[in-house]
Amino acid sequence: MDSAPEAGAPALFLFSHDLRLDDHAGLTEATRHGAVVPALVLDPTLRERAERSPRRAAFFYGAALSLARSLQERGARLIVRRGPLISATKRLAREVGARTVAMSAQYDATSAGRQRRLQSSLEESGLRVALVHDAPAVPPDATASVRSAEGGTGYRAFAPYFAAWVQQARTPLGVKVRFAAPEVSSEELPAPSEFDAAHCEGPSEARAMNALDAYLAGPALQYLTARNVPSSEATSRLSGDLSFGTISARTVLARIDERMRDPFLLAEERRSLRELVRALAQRDFFLQLAWFFEGSPDALLQERMRRFPSARSHAGLGAWRDGRTGFALIDAGIRQLHATGWMHPRVRLVAASFLCFDLGVDWRVGRDEWERYLVEDEPALANGNWQWSAGVGADLAQFPRIYNPVKQLRSFDPRAAYARTWLPELAAVPDVDILDPTGATRRMQLSLPLFDGSTYPKPIVDHDQAARAFLARYAGFIKNAGVRR
Ligand SMILES: Cc1cc2nc3c(=O)[nH]c(=O)nc-3n(C[C@H](O)[C@H](O)[C@H](O)COP(=O)(O)OP(=O)(O)OC[C@H]3O[C@@H](n4cnc5c(N)ncnc54)[C@H](O)[C@@H]3O)c2cc1C
Repeated sequence: MDSAPEAGAPALFLFSHDLRLDDHAGLTEATRHGAVVPALVLDPTLRERAERSPRRAAFFYGAALSLARSLQERGARLIVRRGPLISATKRLAREVGARTVAMSAQYDATSAGRQRRLQSSLEESGLRVALVHDAPAVPPDATASVRSAEGGTGYRAFAPYFAAWVQQARTPLGVKVRFAAPEVSSEELPAPSEFDAAHCEGPSEARAMNALDAYLAGPALQYLTARNVPSSEATSRLSGDLSFGTISARTVLARIDERMRDPFLLAEERRSLRELVRALAQRDFFLQLAWFFEGSPDALLQERMRRFPSARSHAGLGAWRDGRTGFALIDAGIRQLHATGWMHPRVRLVAASFLCFDLGVDWRVGRDEWERYLVEDEPALANGNWQWSAGVGADLAQFPRIYNPVKQLRSFDPRAAYARTWLPELAAVPDVDILDPTGATRRMQLSLPLFDGSTYPKPIVDHDQAARAFLARYAGFIKNAGVRR
């Protein structure tokens, strides 16, 4: 690739899910081609995706406003345009006299397809396009080159991917970006408060960095054990910032490495930090999975499971959506999602398992439902995780991982602290009745006015029966289809 800046011509940089200035692979590449004109094109697809969840929209526009302010402090200006991506970008490139348009790669099938169409159209118009991997700490091509030595492209399983990933460099980029300030028009960003007042002014590069440092100073050191305890607040909650790029994964990993150099850390604290590194590698894993294998947003990674019949509806689906299944861990998770735009990772696994296996409902129904509430905006991670949970994706376990929601509650929320936080109707219910909902129903029939319909519902299915029925159906499918896992 020609790296010499064209005499005087600026490079247009299109922001989207990389709303920061530091450690930025896209800006670093753009600045090699000329002074950078920073721009944000609010095209209908981007807006529609961001605005599907009000908290996500508020986060996105809040982070964009904060980026605009940071640019101003550096004497530059974020140029905002509304309109169809291709025509708005071409017009802007023409107006500023850019010869190069740079942008960060996106990973899910829909966004990657849009980017490919944009790229061809810009190239047909004689513009150079620089499409850069910024979101993952390790670009998909870096791990794929390890695999290609073995004759493959990307990785479909996490363990070998991780072995290749840990060998790769993931150093933050410290290039000073040179900005241009052309006299062209810019439009107003939507006010975040139009969508969700709680998230309006919050998100920013500085806030994400402070949150990371506070996390690494304390809670991260308990990550190994406490990350599965939903009431512990021991996970980083960085997923929103990572998905909109207000912090880069490289920076997060570099800060973890720095923390790891503290000679006073205990062995378990060091293991916690290593586990956190592994979580970030999992993010990179799912991004590369989408990059190399995601043919369409709805395609199952495991071809052999594409004919496995799963329902789009179930009598209990409404209860699952509303957090009224009668299983306290699942219901608390769904209510946490509704109230905050985030659900604890462990609870996601249990709630997803319940939908796919206890109710036999297609994973895409769950993915699309949560999409309406989550702050995170990374369909590649949503798809990867939902497919993994449903046993149709990158998980190569022989049988589906069906979680028992009652046992999970007893193991990870044994005092029902998390359940009570999100289910106020359980405030006065004794632990024993929350931790044993079937027994509570029986006891209620004898005396308690607990699950009387006006308060908390009784379990909508018998978990053991439902799980066994699913496994029988699954085993029958595998046998009849002659499918080997
Ligand atoms: C059914 C299901 C659906 C999910 N949907 C999404 C989604 O739509 N968008 C999304 O960003 N994440 C999704 N996840 C992954 C994960 O649960 C979230 O990223 C979660 O918000 C992480 O919380 P945290 O930042 O506190 O994580 P931490 O435990 O502190 O981990 C640190 C970071 O590592 C990454 N990470 C951790 N676990 C995973 C994982 N399983 N997959 C990918 N990256 C991971 C995240 O970027 C996270 O911020 C889903 C998980 C499941 C089981």
